[in-house]
Amino acid sequence: MLQNIRVVLVNTSHPGNIGGAARAMKNMGLSRLVLVDPEEFPSPKALARASGANDLLDNAQVVSTLEEALVGCSLVLGTSARDRRIPWPLLDPRECASKSLEQVALGGEVALVFGREYAGLTNEELQRCQFHVHIPSDPEFGSLNLAAAVQVLTYEVRMAWLAAQGAPTKMEKVEATAILDTRPVTMDELERYFEHLEQTLVEIGFLDPQKPRHLMARLRRLYGRSGISKLEMNILRGILTETQKVARGEPHKRRPDDV
Ligand code: SAH
Repeated sequence: MLQNIRVVLVNTSHPGNIGGAARAMKNMGLSRLVLVDPEEFPSPKALARASGANDLLDNAQVVSTLEEALVGCSLVLGTSARDRRIPWPLLDPRECASKSLEQVALGGEVALVFGREYAGLTNEELQRCQFHVHIPSDPEFGSLNLAAAVQVLTYEVRMAWLAAQGAPTKMEKVEATAILDTRPVTMDELERYFEHLEQTLVEIGFLDPQKPRHLMARLRRLYGRSGISKLEMNILRGILTETQKVARGEPHKRRPDDV
């Protein structure tokens, strides 16, 4: 699916940015790079910034006009760092990503078009695009580095693509402690903990059973807000047990190394 979304760089002056764009694309699973009349390509500077995305540079298609770069595309999205004179349908990067995926799901091909470092895309080039995409940067300093702009758009494409697959967007930890750490504590475990806590607070003289002053209710409210896991409960119980030993003058360990 993602190979049907191409990145088109128009008239790039710094070959380093071509390499940076290739790296950004490969990180996000895109592979098709089209260069319209680049000033310097191939170039060792592009290879250096690609840091491993060499295959994208080797397979990059070099053409002399935007028209050639867009052959076969059914949706063309042009990026722009600033407002242009003629109002045009405008998307943010997230909307651009969902539109792009909708289009490839229909069997179409999509082009994300990026402009020159110094002057962006010309009005004529922008008018070849059905939609304009603006990254909502600080208007006081709105223009991103070319490769950084490619990164933002391709990241949104990847997020939308992962969501469409129902694939996780977070790395899943599967170690036993991680499972224990995320399993929530049960109400009865929490009740036993409150008993233990109250007993300890009495033993260390913090809670006066004659004058409890809503202390336990307030502590219950605090713990109720925190979504404690089983592992965290074990730690808290360990702390109480050691506190009681100190209060009773019993031998105790200095470091809790069994949690
Ligand atoms: N001085 C130029 C800046 C071009 S930056 C101008 O004002 O147009 C080079 C390219 O990076 C732009 O053509 C565009 O493709 C992309 N880019 C930079 N900042 C962007 C932004 N905020 N939103 C969308 N694209 C951006």
